[in-house]
Amino acid sequence: MNQDLPAGVNREQMDVDVMIVGGGSAGLSCALHLSQQIEKHNQAVQSGQLKAELIPEQMIVVLEKGAEIGAHSFSGAVLNPIALQELYPAYAAEGCPIEAEVVEDAVHYLGDSWDIKLPVTPPPFHNEGHYIVSLSHMNRWLGEKCEARGINIFPGFAAVEALCDGQKIVGVRTGDKGRDKNGNPKANFEPGLILKSKLVIFAEGTRGSLFKQVSKKLNLRAGKNPEVFEEGVKEVIQMPPGTVKPGRVIHTMGFPLSKSIGGTFIYTLPQDRIVVGLVAYLDSQDPLLDPHRELQKLKTHPFLQKMLKGGKVISYGGKTLPAGGWYSMPKLSGDGWMVCGDSASMVDVQKLKGIHLAMKSGMLAAETALTSILKQDSSPETTAAYEKKVHDSFIKKDLYKVRNFHQTLSKGIFASLPLIAIQELTGGRGLVDNMPCHTDAQATEPVVDLWGPDGFTEALAELPKPDGQLFFDKLSSVYLTGTMHDEDSPNHLLLQNGDICRTVCEPKYKSPCTHFCPANVYEMVASSKENSKYDLQINYTNCIHCKTCDIKCPFENIEWTVPEGGGGPRYRDT
Ligand code: SF4
Ligand code: SF4
Repeated sequence: MNQDLPAGVNREQMDVDVMIVGGGSAGLSCALHLSQQIEKHNQAVQSGQLKAELIPEQMIVVLEKGAEIGAHSFSGAVLNPIALQELYPAYAAEGCPIEAEVVEDAVHYLGDSWDIKLPVTPPPFHNEGHYIVSLSHMNRWLGEKCEARGINIFPGFAAVEALCDGQKIVGVRTGDKGRDKNGNPKANFEPGLILKSKLVIFAEGTRGSLFKQVSKKLNLRAGKNPEVFEEGVKEVIQMPPGTVKPGRVIHTMGFPLSKSIGGTFIYTLPQDRIVVGLVAYLDSQDPLLDPHRELQKLKTHPFLQKMLKGGKVISYGGKTLPAGGWYSMPKLSGDGWMVCGDSASMVDVQKLKGIHLAMKSGMLAAETALTSILKQDSSPETTAAYEKKVHDSFIKKDLYKVRNFHQTLSKGIFASLPLIAIQELTGGRGLVDNMPCHTDAQATEPVVDLWGPDGFTEALAELPKPDGQLFFDKLSSVYLTGTMHDEDSPNHLLLQNGDICRTVCEPKYKSPCTHFCPANVYEMVASSKENSKYDLQINYTNCIHCKTCDIKCPFENIEWTVPEGGGGPRYRDT
C-alpha cells in the first residue's frame, strides 16, 4: 500500500509541551488536573506562599480518534466517584451527567428457566454511594471542562506512530486523511501531523494500538503476565412510561453462558430505560464464543422477559476490557512517557470497575507532568515518580487485593469459589501468588472438542428471531451504534495470512472472528482459490473498535490499527 506523500506535500510540525493520546476518562482527567495544578502553582507563587518560578502557558494537547469526545466512550457503567470528587469537587453543582445514584444491589443466579436471588449480596457487588453513568455523556462533560481551561482537544485525529529518539519518546505522528482503499491520496488528502512533545502520556483505552507498538519496541511487558481481556456488549432499552425505578443494579451468573466464564449486568435509569449487558472472559476455550448472540439469548430468560416486557432496544455497543490487573500492568513510565488507565490494565475485574482507576492514574500522571515541567526534564528518573504514586494510591490498594482473581475465576465459577475465598482471607494472595496466565488467543480449542461433531446446530436453534424491538441481528445492532468509516479508505484491520483462515482456521475452529466480533465485520465467503473452501472477507466499515480481533484470533492473524481519524462508532448514551 502506498503511504508516500504526494510530490510537493510536506507534513506540518507542531511543538507541544504535553501530549495526551486518547480523550477518554484517563486522558481528560490528566489534562484537566494538569491545568488545575499549573494554576494552583502559579497562584501560590503570585501570592508569595511559594518561592518558585511562574509556569508559562503550556500547550497541552489531547488527541482523540473519535469524531468528537465521547463518541468512542463505552462502559457499563457504575462509577465509584472517589476520583471524580478529588478532580472536580463541584461536579454535581456543575452539571456532571449522573444518571442515578445506586439505591439497590442484587445478584441472581439464572438456571435455564428459573432464577434465584442470592440472600446476601456479596461485598464486591455492593455499590452504596456509587453512580450509574453513561461514560459517553460523562466524557463529553469532562471534555467541556478541559476546553473551558484552554486545553487543546483535537477530535478526529488518530495517533498512528510514536516518534522515538533512541529509547526516548519525543512525539507522535497522526494518520493521513483522504487516502483511498489502496492508500493513494484522494482529492481531499490531508497529510498527518508531526507533533513533537516534551512528554507523551498514553491513555488510549483498552488494547491501545500505539502503546502496543511502544511496549513491543521498549519491551515494557518483560516479566509481567500477558494482557488478558473480557469482551462486553450492552444495550439500552426504552421501556413503557412509568415502569422503571431508577438506581437498581442487578448482576446475574449462569444462563446463557455455558462454555465460557462471564456474567451480566442490568442497570435501571431515569426516563424508563434499562441497560442490559453481558461480559465474557476471552480466555474461553470456545471458538464459537459470541457475546452478541449470548446477549440476545439472555433476553429470552423468564427473569429478563418479565422485566423487559414492552421494551425496545435503542442503543448498542461493545468493547473489550483489560482483566489481568496488577500482574499484567506494564512498566508505567520511561524516557519522555507515561501510560494510564485501561492501556495499563488498570481495571478491578472482580468489581468490573475501571473508570475511577483510569481517572486517578491520569491525575497522578498529571502531577508527575507538573514536576517534569518545573524541572524541564522528562527523563526516566523524573517520570518514575508516577509509578511510585500509583503504588501509593488506591489504584494499588484496589488492584493488589484482586491480583489473582481473573486467573482463578478462569478455572470455572464453582471450581474457583474455594480458591477465591482463600484469596479473600489472605488479602488476595491465595494459594499461589502470582498465578500465571496465558494469552487469550492461546486458549481457543477446536470446535469438535467443545461442541462435538454437530458443531453449532443446537445452539443456533435456540436463538430468538430478530424482531426489531427486543431482539436484533448483528447488522441491525451495528446500525444503532452510528458507526461510520469512509468506504473508500484503507482497511485498518490488517490480515497477516489469509491462507491460514482458509486452510486451518475455518476447518478446525470455524473462524472464531465471525463469531466473537460484535459487529459482523468478518465473514467467510466461497474461496476463489480452492473449491469447497472459504476465504475471509473483512467488512471493515462496520468496525466498532472493540479490539477483540486483535486479541482473540487463535493465530494472532489480525492486527487492529487506527482507521482514518473520525471513523468508528458515534456512541451517544453508552
Ligand atoms: Fe481464523 Fe483469525 Fe483468520 Fe479469523 S482472522 S478466520 S479467527 S485465522
Ligand atoms: Fe471489534 Fe475487531 Fe470486530 Fe472491530 S473488527 S468490531 S475491533 S472484533
